Amino acid sequence: MAEFVIRVGGRSAQGRRPNNEDRFVADPDRHVFLVADGMGGQEGGEQASGLAADIIPRVLSDRLAALDDAPNAVQKALAEANQAIIDAGQRQSGNRKMGTTAVLAVQLDDRFYVAGLGDSRAYLVRADRVEQLTVDHTVADALARNGTLTPDQAKNSPWRNVLYKFLGCAEMAEGAEVRPFTPRAGDRLVLGSDGLTNFLTDDDLIRSGGHQANPQEWADQLVEAALGRGSKDNVTCVVVAFDRE
Ligand code: CA
Repeated sequence: MAEFVIRVGGRSAQGRRPNNEDRFVADPDRHVFLVADGMGGQEGGEQASGLAADIIPRVLSDRLAALDDAPNAVQKALAEANQAIIDAGQRQSGNRKMGTTAVLAVQLDDRFYVAGLGDSRAYLVRADRVEQLTVDHTVADALARNGTLTPDQAKNSPWRNVLYKFLGCAEMAEGAEVRPFTPRAGDRLVLGSDGLTNFLTDDDLIRSGGHQANPQEWADQLVEAALGRGSKDNVTCVVVAFDRE
């Protein structure tokens, strides 16, 4: 990893919503990158994504400092955030349900570990290829994966916004899949909430000049592109760039 410089950019836009329930972390010092998209109406969504953005980087740093292995540290961080969000929901008047997605990447030595719960996504852009590193935990996507729906039907299904796994959900027990990758020079890692990813194609990620632009400029461009195409949601993007020194 010594031959890389890691630079990051991040941007979150409220868009046309009355509040912004998305949160992001782009923290090269703690080696943690994260996007969380809260839900639960009123202040619940903001509180849930805020708890995820506070708790996950802290637990990851603590566990890795204690020499936990990375997949284990990721599961513990997600489990702790999950429980804190469930507890916060129960403390609210009316026992209101709140939750949040979370997609994160954490660096340990020369590897990165990516995990997601919900429908926020991580993409690896490498040369002229884009790979989605996370699975969407929507009912529509699960039906597409088992062949009940075609990918096109899934895109238009009423189940496309219904999450079956997220933080703040009692059934999260089996946790998230943790996906390792070893960065190469020129790679870009892109994390985004669905307000971003629903309005971008793989082609956009390859063609929009990310390999030349600095990561903050590219994050700004991608958010502006999603808003320009009519995204009415909160729009959030984190870009991690790996370049030679
Ligand atoms: Ca959203």
